[in-house]
Amino acid sequence: MAIERKRRNAIPEQDATIRSKNFDEVALGFDEKVAIDEASRCLNCKNAPCMKGCPVGVRIPEFLAKVREGKFSEAGEIIKSTNSLPSVCGRVCPQEEQCEKMCVRVKIDGAVSIGGVERFIGDYMLSLPSENKEVIKTGKKVAVVGSGPSGLTCAAQLAQKGVEVTVYEAFHKTGGVLVYGIPEFRLPKRLVGAEVDKLKEWGVKFELNTVVGKTITIDELLEQNDAVFIGSGAGLPMFMGIEGENLNGVLSANEYLTRINLMRAYESGSATPVQRGKNVAVIGAGNVAMDAARTALRMGADEVTVIYRRGREEMPARAEEIKHAEQEGIKFRLLSNPVRILGENGKVNAIECVKMQLGEPDASGRRTPVAVENSEFILPADMVIVALGTSPNPLIKDSFDALETGKKGTLIVDESLMTSVDGVYAGGDAVTGAATVILAMGAGRKAAQSILDRLGVK
Ligand SMILES: Cc1cc2nc3c(=O)[nH]c(=O)nc-3n(C[C@H](O)[C@H](O)[C@H](O)COP(=O)(O)OP(=O)(O)OC[C@H]3O[C@@H](n4cnc5c(N)ncnc54)[C@H](O)[C@@H]3O)c2cc1C
Repeated sequence: MAIERKRRNAIPEQDATIRSKNFDEVALGFDEKVAIDEASRCLNCKNAPCMKGCPVGVRIPEFLAKVREGKFSEAGEIIKSTNSLPSVCGRVCPQEEQCEKMCVRVKIDGAVSIGGVERFIGDYMLSLPSENKEVIKTGKKVAVVGSGPSGLTCAAQLAQKGVEVTVYEAFHKTGGVLVYGIPEFRLPKRLVGAEVDKLKEWGVKFELNTVVGKTITIDELLEQNDAVFIGSGAGLPMFMGIEGENLNGVLSANEYLTRINLMRAYESGSATPVQRGKNVAVIGAGNVAMDAARTALRMGADEVTVIYRRGREEMPARAEEIKHAEQEGIKFRLLSNPVRILGENGKVNAIECVKMQLGEPDASGRRTPVAVENSEFILPADMVIVALGTSPNPLIKDSFDALETGKKGTLIVDESLMTSVDGVYAGGDAVTGAATVILAMGAGRKAAQSILDRLGVK
């Protein structure tokens, strides 16, 4: 049967020239009418290929059908049965590589904007007054380390089953990377705050400014609780190990974004010191690099250049983030690799790169970049931001030797997400290395179920 063509609704956005100077959200989202119209593009395919593309198996055609009927709460309940943070995932999930990539319409007139409709429903659910659901207390207690998406999801699942949960967070704010990594213009912090408030209503307690491994040990948490979940993420930045990396003005993207997002250094009157580069070079081409580059622009840079050793096709950032960065005026130096950072009086003033070409595919299937002989060139820069990936912080492992870790410091877990220590579970970036919000959430949910099974809670 021929499919009637009906073009995908574009998500309205702030104009690029205006938004590149403010921290307000870039994508403005669908209104009710457009959300219903977009949901009505779903063909309700029998085998639901979109669901196979979703790492947590959200029942996509079912929730879209409810949106089409205007039954937003019911749509929300369907999403929330497998994804507890739809407002967040609707905004930051790489849908074009997951659910939307599998949509039958993708090659006809554009995939259904599943993320756009999910975002609309997530925001709608947050706008509803909280229901005071009575939960029967089980008398069981669980400690959660880290308040990122894995920890929050795990805490939510446990609390809803009557388990007493305390979340221990090293920072003074909850949310993990959702708060200190992803900038306000992509993910407004009020949404993460609203999700955390819901958890508080469920009775979840938060111990902030508490570094597990220093302020309190895993041993102590095990003594005081029936189980522990570690969702401590992968916050340790990697560097290149090249000359000049210690110069003043060279920063990891983590530090740069944390100062600006978590400490709101962009607000006038903020007490948080942050350098403001005029000519900024960002090394790397993942989401973190795009966020750092676009943030530097908003912090007043005249020119921001992303330097990446492979080509456009290989850039790991979401397509939408690359498009937004380009629209805002970020420059790209592809097939270029930094070899040295130059400076004067201890302060960076340039970066030396070499041109690259792509050779044979490596183990990951991506073509290996190879340096072109005698092709060095120098780019002026008064700030260099390194965004080359992160690994788990070794603090947790160092403070509790019985935890087994893999090569890159990731915690080793079994099928049930239990670590090498009985009763200690783990998930999210701490286990996988830097990955995605939806995978972290999926792990939090899975670990919670394993803990409930262990504790005999139905
Ligand atoms: C800048 C940036 C942009 C990103 N963009 C995207 C995107 O667009 N889409 C996407 O899907 N993913 C994105 N990601 C990745 C995604 O955010 C992560 O995969 C996800 O947040 C991992 O969740 P988590 O719960 O495992 O860890 P985290 O979110 O890292 O949370 C871990 C928490 O544990 C706390 N913690 C660590 N050690 C301790 C300790 N010893 N004691 C107490 N607390 C501790 C940390 O302070 C933190 O709050 C991005 C990441 C970054 C950095």
